[in-house]
Amino acid sequence: MKVRLLTHTPEPEKTVVVAAKLCYSPSSVDELDEKVKGISYAKFLGKVVGMGHHSVLEHASFTFGIDGISRSTSHQLVRHRIASYSQQSQRYVKNDKNNEYITPESISKNPEFAKRFESAVADIYALYGEMTEAGIPAEDARFILPNASCTKIIVTMNARSLLHFFTLRGCERAQWEIRAMAIEMIGLAKEVAPIIFADAGPACVRGACSEGAMTCGHPKEIREKFKNL
Ligand SMILES: Cc1cc2nc3c(=O)[nH]c(=O)nc-3n(C[C@H](O)[C@H](O)[C@H](O)COP(=O)(O)OP(=O)(O)OC[C@H]3O[C@@H](n4cnc5c(N)ncnc54)[C@H](O)[C@@H]3O)c2cc1C
Repeated sequence: MKVRLLTHTPEPEKTVVVAAKLCYSPSSVDELDEKVKGISYAKFLGKVVGMGHHSVLEHASFTFGIDGISRSTSHQLVRHRIASYSQQSQRYVKNDKNNEYITPESISKNPEFAKRFESAVADIYALYGEMTEAGIPAEDARFILPNASCTKIIVTMNARSLLHFFTLRGCERAQWEIRAMAIEMIGLAKEVAPIIFADAGPACVRGACSEGAMTCGHPKEIREKFKNL
């Protein structure tokens, strides 16, 4: 898996601070743009977001390019509706020369099933190749492809939506591949907006675990891990 932060709102934290200040100030936008230069973003944003004024976070957007995740993970990702996506098409891009797939560790470390998994996937790709060569359209041949098939996707989310995504998908309850992807994304987002994403991650990073009986049972370690990303 390769996750890159392709682009983002320039000065995301300043943009969010200007938006929040504007709500409570008689100043013009130009004046606010100047005024915010001297203030502590951390203190102000902490206060505003703590009050539940989360809509200001929607002014900062982040675009990630993700290569080499399985279709089973991209399917989970696109369930997050407050986002924009562009995904490599299985209609226009044939999988015959690019038959990469993900093998989960639980399978790869089991020699018997790893062998059978590999062989079944190889058979699937061979049949796929034969069908497309025989003129069956890729949009139909793809019906045989496994959830393990690799895909590429570009996703844009605003900071509010990303924080929600990180809460759900950073949690130990989330499936391992989307969780690994979310963790990479948090690290990249923190590099450009450390205040906004300071507490990004599952609910336990900010307080009590929200998972009830499904808790992983070690919120302390999880909290440490996310704070240090
Ligand atoms: C551990 C885990 C297990 C899961 N298991 C399953 C499963 O078994 N089956 C399954 O189908 N899905 C499953 N999901 C997916 C889950 O149900 C959500 O579809 C997905 O996480 C997207 O979350 P969301 O709707 O909050 O996000 P978004 O779509 O990004 O929406 C963000 C927020 O906007 C608001 N919103 C968006 N659209 C609407 C709307 N139409 N009406 C009202 N409010 C809206 C909601 O407050 C929502 O939380 C699972 C997710 C996780 C994390």
